[in-house]
Amino acid sequence: MNIHVVTLFPEWFQAAAKLGLTGKALGSGTLECWNPRDYASDAYRSADDKTYGGGPGMVLMLDPLIALMKPLKAKAAGVPITLMSPQGRVLNQALVRELATRESLVLLCGRYEGFDERFVREYVDEEISIGDFVLSGGELAALAVIDAVLRLKPGTLKRAASHEQDSFSDGLLDCAHFTRPEQHALGDVPAVLRSGNHRLIERHRRREALGRTWLRRPDLLAATALSAQDLQLLDEFRAEFVATNGSKTP
Ligand code: SAH
Repeated sequence: MNIHVVTLFPEWFQAAAKLGLTGKALGSGTLECWNPRDYASDAYRSADDKTYGGGPGMVLMLDPLIALMKPLKAKAAGVPITLMSPQGRVLNQALVRELATRESLVLLCGRYEGFDERFVREYVDEEISIGDFVLSGGELAALAVIDAVLRLKPGTLKRAASHEQDSFSDGLLDCAHFTRPEQHALGDVPAVLRSGNHRLIERHRRREALGRTWLRRPDLLAATALSAQDLQLLDEFRAEFVATNGSKTP
């Protein structure tokens, strides 16, 4: 996958291109940064200016961005232009999967008050937010998108099935995980996970995933189609929860 990032701070992406999952997943692909300052027309490499109407905050200027988009678009022909923005569609695993089907990504990172709106209207195809909070720049948001997308690429995770069980992949949260030692002052690993019985383990994990989602994210549960067996497992979990906590609701 080829990734193009428009940013005033390319330093944010240098480590990501080399390290860990991201570096490996890029494989023969590239992560290329485009800095509006390199396309400025003055000696100060100005890429931002004061906001019209007064008030604090700077805005990314039109002309350096327009100059930059020409060579960028030539390299990433037909690729949707994505603006990182707190006003965009909120990122979730379904959107991550959608982005992972693309051959390339073009991610624009704002700073200060963001981009001149005229640029957004002319060039931007979609806006993506990583949540209902405001960062000081789009770099961390773009890195979150890049990490989430690249880990879905074949060969990134050791086992292909690894991400199929992740939270949100099938609409539910993931179950809890344990590793050695089996016994510890903080508690023992659930016996079923040590049983070697794959059918029972699967059943246990599904029950835990359903239960956790019910406790922590009922909104996700309401949006997921559950089988008759799921409903039975959830009933079991709830009954146990009530028996332990003496309450019908989390
Ligand atoms: N004044 C803007 C916020 C600007 S924050 C507003 O209120 O809408 C500066 C930049 O950080 C933005 O241009 C965007 O690229 C990035 N950013 C901030 N919060 C973000 C979020 N939740 N998701 C994605 N990008 C975000």
